[in-house]
Parts: sequence; structure tokens; C-alpha cells
Amino acid sequence: MNRVFVASALALALLSACGSKESPFLPEYPAIDLLIENGQVLDGLGNDAVAANVVIVGDRIVYVGDTAFTASDLSERVSRRIDASGKIVAPGFIDLHSHGDPLETPELENFLAMGVTTITLGQDGSSPEVDSLSEWLNQVAENGIGTNLAMFVGHGTLRTQSGIGMAATPAPEDMDRMLTMLDDALKYTFGMSTGLEYNPGLNASTAELRALAKVVGANDRMIMSHMRNEDDDQLEASIAELLEQGEDARVHISHLKSVYGKGVERAEEILGILADARGSGVEITAEMYPYSASYTGLDIVFPVWAKTAEQFAVAKAERRDELAEYLRNRVNQRNGPEATLLGTDPWTGRTLAELAHEMELPFEDVLIDVIGPQGSNGAYFVMNDELQARLLQDPNVGVCSDGSPTGFHPRGHGTFARIIETFVMKNKSLTLPDAIRKMTSFPAGVLGLSDRGVLQADRFADLIVFDPVNVRENATYPDPLRLADGFDVVIVNGRIAREDGRLDDATHGAVLRPQ
Ligand SMILES: [Zn+2]
Repeated sequence: MNRVFVASALALALLSACGSKESPFLPEYPAIDLLIENGQVLDGLGNDAVAANVVIVGDRIVYVGDTAFTASDLSERVSRRIDASGKIVAPGFIDLHSHGDPLETPELENFLAMGVTTITLGQDGSSPEVDSLSEWLNQVAENGIGTNLAMFVGHGTLRTQSGIGMAATPAPEDMDRMLTMLDDALKYTFGMSTGLEYNPGLNASTAELRALAKVVGANDRMIMSHMRNEDDDQLEASIAELLEQGEDARVHISHLKSVYGKGVERAEEILGILADARGSGVEITAEMYPYSASYTGLDIVFPVWAKTAEQFAVAKAERRDELAEYLRNRVNQRNGPEATLLGTDPWTGRTLAELAHEMELPFEDVLIDVIGPQGSNGAYFVMNDELQARLLQDPNVGVCSDGSPTGFHPRGHGTFARIIETFVMKNKSLTLPDAIRKMTSFPAGVLGLSDRGVLQADRFADLIVFDPVNVRENATYPDPLRLADGFDVVIVNGRIAREDGRLDDATHGAVLRPQ
């Protein structure tokens, strides 16, 4: 033991002998960036709130506890104190299914304003069609991003880039190319997404999906799937197809829903299928958005033989009557033209029924002659509130917005606020600790993020401060781009990203790497 060490050990011993009031708190940190005081801390694991202070240094939480900080303890070392009296302090929310282009709108304020500190992109089988996705992620990081980003590689995009396109049976060399491209992309992405209700993914056979799943599993990654068909009578078959892939990789259902299914009992049947699968060893999870309308391109109501512009032109010329009848039946089955709200100009905010009435045309003719499968996005009121609310209560079902900074559906600006405002505070179908868990540690677990989603020392400081009583969704179907209110402070990687409705000039998000 050298002399310097003995001297400093002695000094420390003397210091602590002088009593706790004088001994410096967290002496290893000469500077403390943020101190959140007097709040009720929810750890994100589903535990009840406890009174605690949170200390942040750099991008990490370094202390969570009930030490009372006297002015003399910290005043000289703390850059910023936040008084969270009467408020909840929780991990920032993780959105398991998001959209948007961070190079276009890097600040992502719609997400931050509803408490989201991490988003996931590359969903529904579609990731950016660029030469190098890895290079694109570097660009996003360099350009700056308001939230953290967990990236997925899209199966549809891989199909296009490997030369398979819409072919039902890939040539063996193209299939090999796709598998190699997937294997490469999984080194720096969180998994593969599929969009089996969209082109080109819908052309994939179960065998192709199994081959892809083996590569995903070998890389210890996951498959997030917009399944082949979300109609109530097709749901079992769609889930069964995903469960087959679950033999080889972790699998996850994107935006779980039953289109035109009804009631709590039906929800329990669906949850039962997932529970049974987990019982037999398949790792399957899901997430959903808390709205009864879906939102996607109008091609969703067109038959597989008339979804693309080329197919549609042929179908219109050669099979018009058959197409009209298909559309009439399909839209009526989906609660009719009143339940289709258009989201693309010049029709934004009008229903298909209103448009048909104005034009004095049957709605199927409006779809064929005026809009077409590529002509508009729409919100479709096809879900049952009781069924969806029951799905949301399941502990293995998380939350997603499925929204973007620009999408014409309130979910992109309101989802996470709506969970608190409607499901916790108003309907009381979720407790606050359960709701927070669903939006923090649960999605972190799905993504394999061991250092986020839980409010504990040594984790990254992605945090929110809010009073649940004040949380407001604000966004509505007619006015879907209104920012949420009530998340007073939103912290990303230890930096305040948004406070009292003001966005910070800088972006503090990181492009995350799988662990
Ligand atoms: Zn989707």
C-alpha cells in the first residue's frame, strides 16, 4: 500500500466520520447534469410508484433513491434540477412499430410530445431502398435524430433488391442472394419485418418465409410481421403461418387486431392461441395501437390481382365487373363506405360514402374510376372496441403507434397519450404501472435492449416526467396532426429533448445497435 493511497483512505474515513451531512453524495461524479427531485418513480417493470430522486450524469442514470438532497450536498455540482413534485417519473416510451423518414423530419416531435424516446423503423416489409442500409443509418446518425431508432430490414425490400420482385417462386440464385443480403443486414438491425398483405411480400410462400426465419434465428434476431390477413376469419391461419417461422426465430405480431371480429370472448380466443404457442416453446409477442380504425393505402381493399398500377390497369380493362363486385363486397364487409375515411388530397377528411354521394356514383365506381388502388390512403373503421381493449390487457401485448409525423390518423400523434388518458385514467382497464410497463420494459425486452426501458442506475437516461391527470391525446380523425400534451419533460440520452411544449434545438437520439 503506497503512501498516497493511505493518505486518501484516511481522508475519506475522516470525511465519513464527520457525518452524512458533510460527506459528498456520489463523490465519483464531480459534475451532475440533471437531478429530478421529489417525483414518484415508476421503474417500468410493473412495480408501484415509489418516492425517489433520479440523478443523471452524461447519458446515464447514476442513482435512483430516496436520499434527500440538501442544498450543500449538490448545489455546486448540479447543472440542472427538475422538481417533479406531484408527478410521475418513468422510462421514456418505446414504440414497437413506427413510420417516418428521419432524414426528412429528424426532430420527430410527434413522438417526443407523446413521451416516446425510441422508435422502430423498417416495418411492414419495407425498409429504405438504398444501396447500403448501414450507410443510411450512419447518415441518420450524422444528420441527427430526435428519438432513438431501432432499425429493421424489410423482407419486401430484400425481395426487390435481390431481383425476386413479385415472383411467387424465386429463382434459386435470387433466393440465395436474398438470404445473403438478410444475413448481412441482421448484423446491424434488430430483425426482419414482413408485410404479407402488401406487394411484393404477399407473393412469398410459407417455404420462403421458413428459409428466411432460419437466417433470422441463426443471427439471434426476430421477425416482426404484418401478417398475411387480419380479417377475423383469416386470423388463425395468419398466426399459424407466423408460428411456423417461430420454430426458428423469435416472432412478433405487428399491430395485432381482428378486422370485423367482435367481443371479449373472441379476444380471449386469439390470446389463447398465442399463450398455447408460448406454452409449446415458441417465443411470440405482439403489439397494438389503441384505435378502432386502421390506416393504410387503399390497395388494402383491392384483390391481389389488382393491387399494383399495372395489375389494376389490366383488371379494369378485362375484369371490370368482377373487380366492381369484389370491391362492393369487401368494403361492405369492412363496415361499408361510411367507415372508409380518405387521407390523401384532394379527398382528405371525406368518407368514401360522402364522395360517392357527391359524385352520384356507386362507391365501387369511385374506387375504380376516380381513386384507384394507389390513389389514396384511408382510415378504416373496422375494429371492435371491446375486443381490442381486451387484447391490450394481455401482458404479452405491447403498444405501437404505427404512426408517422405526417400520417393522417390520430395514432401518429396520440397513441401513447391515449393509453394514459383513456385506458388508465378514464376506462381504468389498465393500471398505470401496467400501462407504463407495456410501453417501456416490455418493448425493450422484445427488442433485446438490456440498457433501456427500465428506470434504474446504470441504464441510459431516457425518461419522462408527467402528471397522468394532465395527459391529453389531442389528435382526432378530422385533425390528426395535433401534438399530445402532458409530458412535461422528455429526456433522451440524458438530455432534455422537450420541455413544457418546447422542443430543444438539438437532436439527442441515437441509432441503436442490437446487443
Ligand atoms: Zn402494417
